[in-house]
Amino acid sequence: MITRRNFIKQATLTTLGGVLLPQVGAARTAFPAPYYLNHIVGAKPKMTLRFFPYELKLRHVFTVASYSRSTTPDVQVEIHYEGLTGYGEASMPPYLQQELGSMESVQAFLARVQRMIGDFSDPFQLEEILAKIDALDAGNAAAKAAVDIALHDLVGKLLQAPWYRIWGLDREKTPSTTFTIGIDTPDVVRQKTRECAERFNILKVKLGRDNDKEMIETIRSVTDLPIAIDANQGWKERQQALDMIHWLKERGIVMIEQPLPKGQIDDIAWVTERSPLPVFADESIQRLKDVAALKGVFSGINIKLMKCTGMREAWKMLTLARALDMKVMVGCMTETSCACSAAAQLSPAVDFADLDGNLLIANDRFRGMEVVNGKITLSDRPGIGVELV
Ligand SMILES: [Mg+2]
Repeated sequence: MITRRNFIKQATLTTLGGVLLPQVGAARTAFPAPYYLNHIVGAKPKMTLRFFPYELKLRHVFTVASYSRSTTPDVQVEIHYEGLTGYGEASMPPYLQQELGSMESVQAFLARVQRMIGDFSDPFQLEEILAKIDALDAGNAAAKAAVDIALHDLVGKLLQAPWYRIWGLDREKTPSTTFTIGIDTPDVVRQKTRECAERFNILKVKLGRDNDKEMIETIRSVTDLPIAIDANQGWKERQQALDMIHWLKERGIVMIEQPLPKGQIDDIAWVTERSPLPVFADESIQRLKDVAALKGVFSGINIKLMKCTGMREAWKMLTLARALDMKVMVGCMTETSCACSAAAQLSPAVDFADLDGNLLIANDRFRGMEVVNGKITLSDRPGIGVELV
């Protein structure tokens, strides 16, 4: 039994020393002992934030029409509180720096958060803390996501529960993740498809070029697995897009992402109305404020933590989309298992998941969400469910 005197003694030591003392078994409740001890003696523990650049090394050179790259700029974030650490991450692929922020702007933003985070006395007040951080400036979505993810990880650890449980989701209901087959010569595509067909239950192919049909036929010569298509705004006319979708439907394709440029709202709505496959917004959507206007334009939305500033807004987007009777998918950037596992917490509630970002890098710092027989598999670790490798 712990006495009141020992209680206060340990609380005082914790407060003065700022260190995590061993927990007293008999006193263990839903919270780690030092957390509530500090509150009993009226002390105000402080959150501190640390961040550092961490360049992601890609397993394979990533090529799009305009350039190739073998790394992705990334910043790792930690929020320390009461002996616990919440982990977060900002990933900034160069083609998205306008929305997400650059290496320089994200670090400058995090330095501002670093100076103010000690002013918040209760990490559970996510709504107030994240609104104030969001109001610091209009951009830097990836930096905001990094802080949001770290805070959610911390709060989950304080509650000793993973976020899928806090959100009331069933981890048995996680979907299979798509895995992207890159555009390449037919021989290479066949080889990659063979390898992927053994590990995944659904493939993803990026179309929107002049060899779209050849690419699909090459993959279909190897496997009958369902395929998700991301046209990346690559089709330009609505009739061409609709004809292509009908052709794809005949070949076992199950969904279409961003068929036309985001500016062509009326054309996208026209295609969606006639499409035999669900049509998802990606480039057309960034944050919560964009969702309602897309009702009637797309069948569903792709939610990415780096774009929408993190888990809190992602959850709001998901619930709003469901209220509007829209479909939802969750996607990611190239990122470590930190941000991917944060996104995966949401995955039991989505129609499609495209969470292969951690599989694309060679220097993952974390163990977290795993893909087992193609299916997203969540651990029972608290928070976002990660541990350092
Ligand atoms: Mg996309």
